[in-house]
Amino acid sequence: MKIDKSHIVSSSLGAILGACSIWGISALSGNNAASPFSKKAELTMYEKVADDPDGDVYITPKGKKYHTAWCYILRKSDEMKRASRSSVIEVGYTPCRKCKP
Ligand SMILES: [Zn+2]
Repeated sequence: MKIDKSHIVSSSLGAILGACSIWGISALSGNNAASPFSKKAELTMYEKVADDPDGDVYITPKGKKYHTAWCYILRKSDEMKRASRSSVIEVGYTPCRKCKP
């Protein structure tokens, strides 16, 4: 009887441990699969554009337009970066209607 009981206990423990490890693995692999996507989603259009000192247009973190150096919209923004026209168009920026870059 003693042997039977311990056998039952160990087998049920094994089942619980087995279930835990399955969940553990699936949770881990889920995290690994999700992290590259979440990082991509966190990257804004602004962050995708490399700062280029030789570029000919300017972008701001909040705006979705690109501007010439003299545009007043740039003066309203605390942050901006200079970039090449082709690189800002690539990530979805469109020309500003005010300064027509
Ligand atoms: Zn502008």
